[in-house]
Parts: sequence; C-alpha cells; structure tokens
Amino acid sequence: MTSQQKGLAALGGIVSLAAGFFVAKRLRGRGDVAQREWTCACGQAYHVQGLDRHRVYTVVDGDPVLGRDCVRCGEPLPSGHETVKFC
Ligand SMILES: [Zn+2]
Repeated sequence: MTSQQKGLAALGGIVSLAAGFFVAKRLRGRGDVAQREWTCACGQAYHVQGLDRHRVYTVVDGDPVLGRDCVRCGEPLPSGHETVKFC
C-alpha cells in the first residue's frame, strides 16, 4: 500500500465515521417520537407521537386525545405493536 493509498483509506474511514455520526444524530433527533399522521376510518385525522402503547394522539389542529378512543366516532385508537395488523 502506497502512502497515497493509506491516505485514501484513512480519508475513507474518516468519511465513514462522519457519515455514521450524522446519521446517528439525525435518527436521535427524530428519535422514537417521530410525529406521523394517522386517520381513523371515520376520517378524523391525528398526529401520532411515540410507539406502541406509548403513543400520544393529537387531533390535527387540536388537543391531545386523553382517552384511547376516536374523538369523533369512539372507535379505539390503535395502540398495539405497529407491525401487527388486527383484521
Ligand atoms: Zn373515528
């Protein structure tokens, strides 16, 4: 390995570390509390934060939902694991 190759290898390592750092920082910034939208079958839209049983539903342009039911139709809001679909 020439000194130039060693330099490139070192540079590659630094770039990889820097990329990993920024990706980790972005993921941490979004965290597990990334906000996303969910719409009930009745059409009521919510912002959802958190995962699984720790989700917080907020009516779009409104207040957080204190209960576990849709504020419009009363259907239970999803609270199980996201990969599980209840049919
Ligand atoms: Zn609903």
